[in-house]
Amino acid sequence: MPELPEVETVKNKLLPSLKNKIIKSVEVYYEKHSSLRQIKDEKILDIKRKGKYLIFVLKSYFMVSHLRMEGKYFITSQERINKHDLVKFIFDDFNLIYNDVRKFGTFNLFNKDEDIYNIYPLVEVGMEPFDIDKDTLYNLLNKRSEPIKSALLDQSIIAGLGNIYVDEVLFLSKINPYQKANTITLEETESIIDSSIKTLNKAIKLGGSTIKSFESLNHEIGHFQTELLVHLREGERCYTCNGYIIKNRCGGRGTYYCPTCQRLNKNQKLIAITGTFSSGKSTVLKILKELNYSTYSLDEIYNDLFMNSKEMLRSIKKALGVTSKEELRDLVFSDESKNKLLMDATHKYVMEALYKKIEKDNSKLIFVEAPLLFEGKLEKTFDKVIDVYESEEVLSQILKNKGFSFEEYQKRIKSQLSKEEKRQKADYIVYNDGTQKDLFVKIKGLLKNMEE
Ligand SMILES: [Zn+2]
Repeated sequence: MPELPEVETVKNKLLPSLKNKIIKSVEVYYEKHSSLRQIKDEKILDIKRKGKYLIFVLKSYFMVSHLRMEGKYFITSQERINKHDLVKFIFDDFNLIYNDVRKFGTFNLFNKDEDIYNIYPLVEVGMEPFDIDKDTLYNLLNKRSEPIKSALLDQSIIAGLGNIYVDEVLFLSKINPYQKANTITLEETESIIDSSIKTLNKAIKLGGSTIKSFESLNHEIGHFQTELLVHLREGERCYTCNGYIIKNRCGGRGTYYCPTCQRLNKNQKLIAITGTFSSGKSTVLKILKELNYSTYSLDEIYNDLFMNSKEMLRSIKKALGVTSKEELRDLVFSDESKNKLLMDATHKYVMEALYKKIEKDNSKLIFVEAPLLFEGKLEKTFDKVIDVYESEEVLSQILKNKGFSFEEYQKRIKSQLSKEEKRQKADYIVYNDGTQKDLFVKIKGLLKNMEE
């Protein structure tokens, strides 16, 4: 559906061809628009826009046009060309055709003495982001308990934003679409206005977005769709945090957002626990769990999806040609590039499943065991990273207990970053070089540090 930038583009395209031209008469092929037959020998003085409405200012009328889903204008010298052409405005040397496949578009004709901005439908159109001030918008949002996404789609609150641009605006403002409108702060309101202006101006400059069917005039398409930050980018990586964009329904509309950049619980901190194979990550996670912290393991989520997600298995099969765990293990250990393929094929499912779990979790600190955090370039998705670093002595003991030889270990960590690289990239380091009790004391110290 055309939103503000698309309608502004249509206006900008129509104006040079139609200004000061005279509509000789109008032929209507769809009775809903029969009132337009009154227009005879009317000069078009101007074309304006309010929200998603086009306002043709004629000599004796205002003609208000809403394109809804599929309404389109064509300027042509041909006669009626298509069964979906519903109205033909006849000029001296060309025709303006209104075409509407879905027939949802509307026309309202008013006499020139009517105060059109104060009667239906324009009276229901709120102020545009370009005109509204933060206090006015804040007060309007404050009265609404629905998700902010739905509130911003309501044209009586703010005009011109539709499904595409609200997703983009909320991403730029780092606001979760499900956040209740009446919890939006004044600062956030200001950010919504700034992001809206920025997004709309850029979209207008690029002639709007052509996603399904938008064409401004005579089949001309828009180009903003290539600039979208989140909308339609489900499963792709976030340009800010490198996490994964997800799609959910909000207020009945397909809604795209980054769950980490647009966190619902803003006080929540996501902490990754990483380290090389056998470094003691799981032990650290276990201790945190015993201390009643909220803990998740990406390996566990992966194993669970491996059993239950046909989608993830399809993705693995597509990337690597196999789906049995044993075959995968052999492939990944023998060829480093295969490990990357496996990560690319699975991480978005694993992260999506994690996001779903943490969206329901109100804990202030959430710990996630993420073995391939750096390899999967997921570190910016987390607020802090703990690296569990084992001494050679402890490592060889652990390996011995697990029945691994050092050669097997080296083979296994070949595709991972070295211990030293991980240590340098982490925010906190837990040296796992003593007993479990020592580890426990170290973790307690670390938690104290984090909670301050
Ligand atoms: Zn992000």
